[in-house]
Formats: sequence, C-alpha cells, structure tokens
Amino acid sequence: MSKNILIPFTRPYVSKAGLVNLQKVVNSSHHCGDGFYTEYCSQLLEKALGCGKVLMTSSCTHAIELAALLLELSPGDEVLIPSFAFPSCANAFVLRGANPIFCDSNLETGNIDVDKLESLITERTRAILLIHYGGVACDMDKVVGVARKNNLTLIEDLAHGPFASYGGKKLGTFGDLATLSFHHTKNFSSGEGGALIINNKKYLERAEIMREKGTNRSKFMRGQVDKYTWVDVGSSYLPSEFQMAILAGALDDRFEVQSERMAIWDRYFNCLNSWAIDNGVALPSVPMKCSHSAHVFYLRLPSLRDRTRFIAFMRDRKIDCPFHYQSLDNSPMGLNFFSSDSRRLAKAELLSNTLVRLPLWFGLSAHDQGNVIDAVSSFSI
Ligand SMILES: *Cc1c(COP(=O)(O)O)cnc(C)c1O
Repeated sequence: MSKNILIPFTRPYVSKAGLVNLQKVVNSSHHCGDGFYTEYCSQLLEKALGCGKVLMTSSCTHAIELAALLLELSPGDEVLIPSFAFPSCANAFVLRGANPIFCDSNLETGNIDVDKLESLITERTRAILLIHYGGVACDMDKVVGVARKNNLTLIEDLAHGPFASYGGKKLGTFGDLATLSFHHTKNFSSGEGGALIINNKKYLERAEIMREKGTNRSKFMRGQVDKYTWVDVGSSYLPSEFQMAILAGALDDRFEVQSERMAIWDRYFNCLNSWAIDNGVALPSVPMKCSHSAHVFYLRLPSLRDRTRFIAFMRDRKIDCPFHYQSLDNSPMGLNFFSSDSRRLAKAELLSNTLVRLPLWFGLSAHDQGNVIDAVSSFSI
C-alpha cells in the first residue's frame, strides 16, 4: 500500500543540527544514556514547560510504566483512564496487577468525559490518567478538583504534544506526573523516545532510582554517595545518546515546527469548514481556555460506513488517512476488565468508529495540502 501513497499521513522531522549532534555522539565515547544530549533535552523541556523534573525515557509507554511503579499499586487497585486511548495507558497499570477502569469520552474533543469521573471512583481508586487528545486540554479545572477532593494521583499523558496550554498554563504542569512521547509519529521525534515529568517532588528520588535499574547511580554521579548499588526495584528506561542527539536538534526548532504545524491545522480548519457543515461532518473543537499543539487534524464522519468509504476514497487519490484508537473497553484484552454490557461506552465507540485523521507534519507542502483539501472537498456523504 505505502508505495501507492503520494501523501503520507506523517513524516518525522530530523533537523540538520540533529545530524551534527548525532555525529558528535558517534565520535564520542558516550553512547549510552544520560550523557550531554539527554541532559540538554531534559533541561530544555523543564524550561520551556515550566514544569518539575523531566526524566528522559525510552518511550512514553515506559514513562507511563515508571509512573505506575511510582504509585506502588496493589492488585485490585483501580486507575481511571479514558477508553478512547492507546493500549499503553492501560497496560502500564495491568502490569502492576491493577485494574484500568475505562471512562467514556467527550465527543467534541476526544478527551475523557470529566463529568463521568466521579461516578467511577471507588475506595480502590488510586489515580486518574488522562490524555490531552490532539494536545487539546481536558477540562483541567474539573479534573484537578476531582483528583484533589478524592486524594487521587493525577497523570497527564501528553504524548500528543508539549507546548499546549490551558488557561495560559502549560500542559504537563497540572498532574503529579506527566508523560511525553517522541515516537516518530509525534510532533518531535527521536524514533522511539519519551519523558516522565515529575511535578510532585515526593516521587522524584524513587523515579531516578527506578529508571536506572533500581540503583542509586544518579546520586553517585552527583557525588552524593560514594558507591552505587542496588537499592530498589527498577528497570532500564534510559534512551541512548543517539536518540537524544536527534531529539535535541528537533526541539531546538520547536517554534518553527509548532508554528508550521499550526498553520497547516488552521488551513484545514478554514478550508474545510463549510464542506463539513454541508456534509454533517464535525471538525476538531478547541474549547475557550485551550491552546493546542496541532498534533492531529481529524474529521468525525456521520457513520463507520462513511468513514470506510472516505478512507478508500482518499487512498484512491494516493492520500493516507488513518483512523485512530479503538476503544479499549471493547478490545479483546479490555473485556477482561470491563464485562458489564449495560455500561458500553457509547461516545468512545463512536470516536473509534467515525474519526479519521488527515496528513499533518512539518514539511507538508502547501501544494500537497491543497491536494488533500481538494480531495476531501470532493467527497460527499
Ligand atoms: C503515542 C502514544 C503513546 C505511546 O507512546 P510511545 O512513545 O510510542 O510509547 C501513549 N499515549 C498516547 C496518548 C499516545 O498517543
């Protein structure tokens, strides 16, 4: 299929500076984790987001796993997550023996339905993980209120893009913990990669240890202890310096990358608005307090049948338009945690069945985007 595609859905950005950085790492004797570029990326993110400590990880999946380890979950503990989500958002807790409790979605934003959260809280509930879908914030006033009132740890999955905000405050600064992804489909890529943001200081010391095989190596490197040894459970969540060299180059260009992505997003919105109204199609909705990260531009078509036709129609024009998450409550694995048919999550399912994404990446030419817009505009429901 891919060789028949002229306009791919996404294309990762590698900057020239990233390649220069990479060559420096190759020439150096520090190829493993926690060298110059790992520190560079984490400091850049801490400053740019105004958040707590940033620990670079090998993926967002690993950042969520590290978060789950930090929660010290016991079997049977519950974590509220959106059903319209990536499997890693559930797996991280399942790996600890906890149960993901699936919450329905807000149809307009693709985010968790914050008004449903409280009804799902039990005495076993320990945490809420939410995704800011497309970098459009969840209603953080409500979520933070619910988390505080019920004494729950709040985790923001910010895989869809740093640098978005809510009420002028950057996403990734609201939760006790937050996670980032630098997978090659995301706004900034190191091929595979991620980060854990630690805003609640009580998690910091253990997070450093767990990220480095359960050793106190970080303290040793800072000269705070005179030998390093096994002190706790842990794993290896460090990205290599090769990855961080590429990421550092991409993050240095963040203003250019984000403003171009935003321009592409805005052009889709403006050019497709009247077509959407005529055809009963919904475009992304960005609530008042949110400034987003231009991670995805999506359409919500009236039905699954329309979406299947639409994807084939675009493919005939050599344009790749994928759908997105398949709701977890309905998945073969998810059914183990969600058996009650009476609580089918209708909106998550609707998003799974009707949402489709248009090509959006840094470097997508105006000409190619014009072709995508023309193709979409010639599709009728
Ligand atoms: C991509 C993504 C992940 C997983 O990221 P990896 O870095 O590939 O592990 C997790 N959550 C969300 C919301 C994502 O979009």
